Amino acid sequence: MEEKPDFEQLRRMMVDYQIRSRGIRNEKVLSAFLRVPREEFVPEELKLSAYDDCPLPIGFGQTISQPYMVAIMTELAEPESGNKVLEIGTGSGYQTAILCEIGCEVFSIERIAELAKNAEIKLKKLKYNPRIFIGDGTCGLKDYAPYQTIIVTAGAPDIPESLIEQLEENGKIIIPVGDIFSQTLIRGIKRKEKLIRENHGGCQFVPLRGKEGWKQSGSS
Ligand code: SAM
Repeated sequence: MEEKPDFEQLRRMMVDYQIRSRGIRNEKVLSAFLRVPREEFVPEELKLSAYDDCPLPIGFGQTISQPYMVAIMTELAEPESGNKVLEIGTGSGYQTAILCEIGCEVFSIERIAELAKNAEIKLKKLKYNPRIFIGDGTCGLKDYAPYQTIIVTAGAPDIPESLIEQLEENGKIIIPVGDIFSQTLIRGIKRKEKLIRENHGGCQFVPLRGKEGWKQSGSS
């Protein structure tokens, strides 16, 4: 009989050797990573690779981000229980689950309907209750604004103006900005209607498509 992988042990190893060892110190973030079952957010045939130190395909030319990248974006957000967070790019729903586990009120938008629906089903099964929307997240979600945090999990040519407008005073936006192939992870903090930008290193994300993102359509 085939032995079942010990996902809890793989999760602890991911947290120690991929996340904590690279400098992530926020205990709320680390304990959320220990509790969310990443194997539930990858395709069945990739479950054994769920805790590998890399992004994985989730279909439709999209990916679930590398665990460390989800961790650094979450740590930069400095999330607190009760924070109102807008996520652009639900994808597999894994980043959404991490934010819910911390106790944030999460609004998440995904442009590919099938991904949004699959993520919603998984998140519900795991007893998380984010609000998932299908559409172009580059324009944000005005009806529920302002947000304390906006996390964009796809690479943008620049920071969409609509998202800056929907941030509250002292609110933070975490977003990869650059060209289609490589980006810089930016944290912007809104102070007196201006956005103070910090640079947090290089990264590679699938493109943010839409009105205030990359215009051309394609597989990714
Ligand atoms: N947060 C995801 C996770 O944990 O699996 C990672 C998502 S993947 C790297 C980026 C996602 O952004 C893709 O699912 C893609 O379809 C989505 N996306 C790209 N442009 C978008 C847009 N304008 N609005 C909403 N979602 C978008």
